[in-house]
Amino acid sequence: MQDFALDLLPSRVVFGVGTRAKALAEVDRLGHRSALVLSTPEQAGLAEEISRNLGAASVGIFSNATMHTPVAISEAAVARARALNADVVVGVGGGSTVGLAKAIALRTGLDQIVLPTTYAGSEMTPIVGETVDNLKTTRRSPDILPEVVIYDVELTLSLPPRLSATSGLNAIAHAVEALYAQDWNPIHALMAEEAVGVLGRALPQILRDPTDIAARSDALYGAWLCGSCLGAVGMALHHKLCHTLGGTFNLPHSETHSVVLPYALAYNAAAAPRAAAAVARALGTQDAIVGLYDLGRRLGAPASLRELGMPESGIERAADLAVSNPYWNPRPIERGAIRQLLARAWAGDPPEREN
Ligand code: NAD
Repeated sequence: MQDFALDLLPSRVVFGVGTRAKALAEVDRLGHRSALVLSTPEQAGLAEEISRNLGAASVGIFSNATMHTPVAISEAAVARARALNADVVVGVGGGSTVGLAKAIALRTGLDQIVLPTTYAGSEMTPIVGETVDNLKTTRRSPDILPEVVIYDVELTLSLPPRLSATSGLNAIAHAVEALYAQDWNPIHALMAEEAVGVLGRALPQILRDPTDIAARSDALYGAWLCGSCLGAVGMALHHKLCHTLGGTFNLPHSETHSVVLPYALAYNAAAAPRAAAAVARALGTQDAIVGLYDLGRRLGAPASLRELGMPESGIERAADLAVSNPYWNPRPIERGAIRQLLARAWAGDPPEREN
């Protein structure tokens, strides 16, 4: 067994079908009385339902959560929470809404109860990425981790098939990078392999039948595991590249993860054979890279950065950015090889394993 050190993060998880009905009990359990409910504009109707369920314990709704957590929106939400004397935030939605809940908690110390509706996994991490003037900075602090996560499988039934696919692949990326993390540990390695297998089976079934509650339940369970991995260990090449590509070229979050993942594993596989073997085992395939690439194609996920709107001239720029800010990766970050990875991912050519 490899040496390891591990901080287990304290959060309460309530998982099931119809569990959003337990939000009021969770507010009570934390000893709070005045909840501000959060959502994106698209999910305002759902926020109203949650607010109604909370009854007198809901003091208002803020439905302006926005991708990449713009600080101006977070400050408006904090002002609203203060004006209403809220003592807890209840966020219902994907990573954008969870990001807003975290940003409010960071500024006010309020507790958070979140009800995730995508597979992004943010609810299990003590990390928030915030944007000012298109510049995204990431902060990590124990205060950012939501106190309670209520996973209600029913809330994911409306997640459109395409977003289910890319959000699920975004989750798988957290698990894959946990398998070769610098601060690897055996618990999250178990969780990661289980998650890749569960999501690898559930996502194609969700594409066939988005209302299949068993597949939706498995996918949400997998997403919980993946989010736990993301919160527990440091991420490497894949997440750093996606962060740079998303920020520099304004590419959509989960779609960018979906495209880059097999290329990132192709770059790292020879330096991380144990991780590649675990992914292959989980997907029931001989080759983890081919397995991930094929899963993306089977799910109809975008296949190239070009499709996502990245200009070809961006390849050089992204390669420069990747080497300008060094970080740990199982294989050293070499500009030439990163440029090649980006060129293949831009064109959507099948990833090539490097030895
Ligand atoms: P999102 O929250 O932006 O949701 C995308 C869209 O889908 C929104 O309009 C949303 O309202 C809608 N939606 C969400 N769930 C739905 C459902 N069940 N039915 C119908 N519509 C639904 O997307 P996301 O991919 O979950 O989150 C992306 C954001 O989360 C990014 O800003 C990313 O940086 C952040 N993130 C942060 C972490 C972290 O640990 N800090 C982890 C993952 C993602």
